Amino acid sequence: MAGERFLPYGRQAIDESDIKAVVDALTSDHLTTGPAVETFERELAAATQSRFTVSVCNGTAALHAACFAAGVGPGDEVIVPAITFLATANCARYLEAEPKFADVDPDTGLILPSEVERLANAKTRAVLPVHLTGAAADVESIGELARKVGATVIEDAAHALGGRDTKAPIGACASSDMTIFSFHPVKQITTGEGGAISCNRDELRDRMAKFRSHGMTREPAEFQTPSPGPWYYEQHILGFNYRLTDIQAALGSSQLRKLSAFVARRRALAARYDTRLVELPAVRPVTRGDAAPGSAYHLYSVLIDFDAVGIDRAELMGRLRERGIGTQVHYIPVPMQPYYRARGWDPNDFPGAMSYYRRTLSLPLFPAMADGDVDRVVDALAASLGAR
Ligand SMILES: *Cc1c(COP(=O)(O)O)cnc(C)c1O
Repeated sequence: MAGERFLPYGRQAIDESDIKAVVDALTSDHLTTGPAVETFERELAAATQSRFTVSVCNGTAALHAACFAAGVGPGDEVIVPAITFLATANCARYLEAEPKFADVDPDTGLILPSEVERLANAKTRAVLPVHLTGAAADVESIGELARKVGATVIEDAAHALGGRDTKAPIGACASSDMTIFSFHPVKQITTGEGGAISCNRDELRDRMAKFRSHGMTREPAEFQTPSPGPWYYEQHILGFNYRLTDIQAALGSSQLRKLSAFVARRRALAARYDTRLVELPAVRPVTRGDAAPGSAYHLYSVLIDFDAVGIDRAELMGRLRERGIGTQVHYIPVPMQPYYRARGWDPNDFPGAMSYYRRTLSLPLFPAMADGDVDRVVDALAASLGAR
């Protein structure tokens, strides 16, 4: 409506301290991977209660590096949920492995441990549970199943920095081997583009650190040939240039200082949505009950029975947009994508994912929203659903 600002489904929160941190980095001696990267990695490890983090240039590179460190290679199988962002599945393909899609709970969108049990076999090299919307997947059960077949567990926590599972902060790797994060602007903290992997084992950290920088090392202790001089370096594996810059890491450290405030604000807004949405029985929050307190609430997603409300999703999104409210669908089931259909996948084999997909919608949620913005969204939703 005229005069009211547009509410996107998500957006970054940048303040003066972030701007100052970036300006300071720009005028320092290092622009790329220098001391700010080391500081950010140490701070992120502290925030996630993990021993190490390795920063990379985006969350997709983090998935690629983690799968590489897990030893994923040609002919291997990697179990991923059918509801996730494309990158969770694509990282298997980068290494010439095949993603094996697991169906999800139709009401939470989270990977079903029973599906991991069905799919796990001697070819399974990795399992990637996704903490969809920021709510914790059952990594403890999945970890037990994965260990039986010798598979590595990599948590895709692109939505979940600042959240918890029943045991520990997301990223502590209490029941997994590695956890990946994304710092894309809509995520919990941003570095523009950026990502990281947390882990507790030296050899995983070392493999990922090499992988992100051409597979090379300047550590004399690691050289296979005695060093002829100070210029010397060796390449041991085929790596990439996946480095984060010091400019981005400085922004990351500044953002990380506000992470708990961001998550607290997201939770408060989610609680307000929960309370207000009781008025609309056709609209049900995805994250409820025991899952709600630990969620990092990257997204506030709801389920709407569009057949029952007599208006389809595209129409509802259009009506909300007219009222200045942005919404999004997270996600189209990955097996629906033409690329994966061409590899033999049929989305109808995933009834849980299809049911979730048909009903889901993500409403605006970001730290700078006011309580009144939540009321505005719920009122617009009520009016849009009522107006046939
Ligand atoms: C954002 C996201 C990624 C990829 O992160 P980028 O930083 O955009 O590469 C991976 N998995 C999930 C679930 C995501 O939401």
